[in-house]
Amino acid sequence: MKKVIVTGSSRGIGRATALSLARAGYDPVLHCVSRIDAAEEVANAVKALGCTGEILRFDISNRDESKAALDAWVAANGAPYGVVLNAGIVDDNVFPELEDEQWDRVLRTNLDGFYNVLKPLVFPMVQARAGGRIVVLSSMSGVAGNRGQTNYAAAKAGVIGAAKSLAVELARRNITVNCVAPGIVETDMTAGLLADEALEAVPMRRFGKPDEVAAAVLFLMSDGASYITRQVIQVNGGIC
Ligand code: NDP
Repeated sequence: MKKVIVTGSSRGIGRATALSLARAGYDPVLHCVSRIDAAEEVANAVKALGCTGEILRFDISNRDESKAALDAWVAANGAPYGVVLNAGIVDDNVFPELEDEQWDRVLRTNLDGFYNVLKPLVFPMVQARAGGRIVVLSSMSGVAGNRGQTNYAAAKAGVIGAAKSLAVELARRNITVNCVAPGIVETDMTAGLLADEALEAVPMRRFGKPDEVAAAVLFLMSDGASYITRQVIQVNGGIC
């Protein structure tokens, strides 16, 4: 079974992605930072589908902690086939009121997290010479910007640039690197945002479900997506 590390798979889109991967015959390696109870529930569900159900626990904004956990995992398992960089946070505020700490925490988690998680994994994936898949969760905010999200949009645009650059570097190794940029999806992250006015911007007039984002990630992970790299797939109900 191909092992795929899915960061932030205790809840929301990461959870849906891990379950979809498990149903499709992959072995998702789960990950969380605080909600071990929720991660264990996902682990039990994927074990019932014949997967290992292993859970990694580290803070993606902490470089040393991420490296220690991932180096140890690679030493025990070898390189993963795939990585889904999904863990992330929001901390919104209009720019004049944004606190230094809000800027720093969102950038450290969502942008530095790209480096902190992929740095220990990419060289082993290259050395394994088995190809592979990297899928990065960006956001509509990173593509188009959004009021109150300068910090989040900066990080989510940043990962698009990083992913596209890494895609070029890894193309000849048959390791694809792509982004999925969701619109507004019903998860804990958006619990306070799901108001009727937000719907007016969505041509489909409904919010997305985690499974609808997971479907795009699963496709990019599949053998059928072997010639797709350096792309951003938007999953947003038709928002331009
Ligand atoms: P949730 O808030 O539902 O879940 C976040 C996940 O990330 C949890 O598993 C959480 O772990 C983990 N996480 C958060 N911070 C850290 C950290 N410092 N270190 C390790 N893990 C961490 O988020 P969503 O499912 O809504 O979002 C998933 C991804 O999709 C994010 O990157 C988000 O930016 C992006 N996205 C979401 C949209 C939406 O509308 N929901 C829209 C566009 C993009 P734990 O459970 O332990 O706290």
